[in-house]
Amino acid sequence: MTRRIPGGGTDDEASPDAGPNPATGPGGMPPGEFREWGHRFVDWVGDYLERIDEYPVLARVKPGEVRDGLNPTAPVAGEPVEALLRDFESVILPGVTHWNHPSFFGYFAVSGSGPGILGELLAAALNVNAMVWKSAPAATELEEVTLGWLRDFVGLPAGFVGTINDTASTSTFVALAAARERGLPEAREGGLAGAPPGTVYTSREAHSSVLKAVHALGLGRRGVRTVATGPGRAMDPAALAAAINHDVTSGFRPLAVVPTIGTTSTTAVDPVGAVAEVARSRGLWLHVDAAYAGVAAALPELRHHFAGWEHADSIVINPHKWLFTPVDCSVLYVRNPSALRAAFSLVPAYLETSETGVTHLMDHGLALGRRFRSLKLWLVMRYFGQEGLRAILARHIALTRRLAAAVDREAGWERWRPSPFSLVVLRRSPAGVRGRERDALNKAIMDRVNESGAAFLSPTEIDGETWLRFAIGNIHTTERHVDAAWGALLGAAKP
Ligand SMILES: *Cc1c(COP(=O)(O)O)cnc(C)c1O
Repeated sequence: MTRRIPGGGTDDEASPDAGPNPATGPGGMPPGEFREWGHRFVDWVGDYLERIDEYPVLARVKPGEVRDGLNPTAPVAGEPVEALLRDFESVILPGVTHWNHPSFFGYFAVSGSGPGILGELLAAALNVNAMVWKSAPAATELEEVTLGWLRDFVGLPAGFVGTINDTASTSTFVALAAARERGLPEAREGGLAGAPPGTVYTSREAHSSVLKAVHALGLGRRGVRTVATGPGRAMDPAALAAAINHDVTSGFRPLAVVPTIGTTSTTAVDPVGAVAEVARSRGLWLHVDAAYAGVAAALPELRHHFAGWEHADSIVINPHKWLFTPVDCSVLYVRNPSALRAAFSLVPAYLETSETGVTHLMDHGLALGRRFRSLKLWLVMRYFGQEGLRAILARHIALTRRLAAAVDREAGWERWRPSPFSLVVLRRSPAGVRGRERDALNKAIMDRVNESGAAFLSPTEIDGETWLRFAIGNIHTTERHVDAAWGALLGAAKP
C-alpha cells in the first residue's frame, strides 16, 4: 500500500501489522530472566571485588590473544546469557589489566567504588540522553547540583559552574575552544586562515591533552608555547610574562595559559596565583589542569597548593581519577558558562525547546548527547559523605608518606622531590651506576614486578632519565599492599 505523506514523498514501507515483538519482556528479555541474571551479575561483581587481590594486576595475554579467542563474526542466532558469562570469564577476563586492584600503582590509580558501580547500573537502566533540559530534566539538574557539591567540597567559589565530560582531554579541549572563541572572535565567521596566529602557554610538564587540544583547535604546533620551569618543575611566571610580551610584539595573539596543579609525571604544582596575575593583566584565558590532584583541595593540609586557582576561567577535575567514581567522569568548571555557549551553542530546529531559565547541556561542549554521569558521582558523594571522602584521601596521603619514608631509608634508592600528593617517584640508583645503565636497571626492575602480577607501576622520564611512578589512589589499597609492592621492588633489584 502506497500512501501520500506530508512533504510530498510516498510511504512505501507502511505496513498494517509489524507482527509480534521478537524481544518481549523487560529490556527485551523474557520476564524473570533479567532479574535472574541481574542478581548473578551483581554476585559476580561482589565476588570479583572481594577477591580482586588474587588476580595478577597486569594482564598476561599477548597481543592478539583476546581477539583470537573471540568469534570473528557476530552470532546469527541469539545466545544464552550463560554462554556469554562463560566467555567473559575465560576469554575477556584474562585480558584485563586490573585497574580496580589494590596493587595497581601505575599512571594514576583509580577506583570503581561500590556506590559508583551501582550508579552506572541505574544510569544504564534509565538510558536518558541529556541533550536539552526537556530530554533529561533530572540528569540536567542533578549534574548542576552534584557539581555544586563538588565545587564546595574542593573549596572553589560559588560562581563556578560545572559540566561533566568523558575525560580531562575533552574538558581541556572545550575550555580552550572557549578561549579561542573569546580571543580570536574574527575566526568565528572566516575561520583561522585570515586571523592572527593564536598561542597557548603551558609548561613542558603539561599533560599531552593540552597539546592535543591546541592542535585540534587548528592553532598548529607553533600555537603551543612551552614556558620554562623553575625549581620543582613549576612554571616560571616571569618567563611566562616575557613569552607573552614577545609574542604580542611579533604579531601573535596570545589566547590562554594552562598551568597544572599536580602534573602527570611528578605531580609538580605550577604557581597558579602568580600565573593568574600574568594572565589577568594581559586578558588571557586561564585554564587550570587539576585533573588528578583537584580533589585533594578538599584536605585542609593540602589546600595551599591550590592558592590562586579561584582566579581561573576554567578548571578541570576528574572524579574518575581520585574520587572513587568509575571511568568516565571529568568535570569542567567555568566561571562564565556563556563563554561555552559562545563557542558551542548552535540550535537546529529539531532541538528547539520553549523552557526558559534552564540549562541545555548540549550548549556546553562538542557532544550533543550525554550520559547520566552525575548519578554515579551523586551516589559516591552521598554514600561516603564529605567526611568519608576526606578520610580516604587522607589515608592515601598517609600511605604515600609511609612509602616515601621507606624509600628514603633504603640505601641505593632515591626519590624525586617534591611529592605533594599521592605519587612517589623513585628509582634504584646504586653507587657507580649512572646514565643509560641506571635507566635500563630501573626498567628491568619495573618489568620484573609488573610481570610477576604482584603490583603494577609505570615509568616516567625526568631530564631524559628513567624513574618509576608509584601512584596510590585505589580505594582498596592498604599498608599491606604498599609494603608488598615496595618489597617486590626491593626483591626485583637484588642481582
Ligand atoms: C590524567 C590527566 C589528564 C588526562 O586525563 P583523561 O581524563 O584521561 O583525558 C590530563 N591532565 C592531567 C594532569 C592528568 O593527570
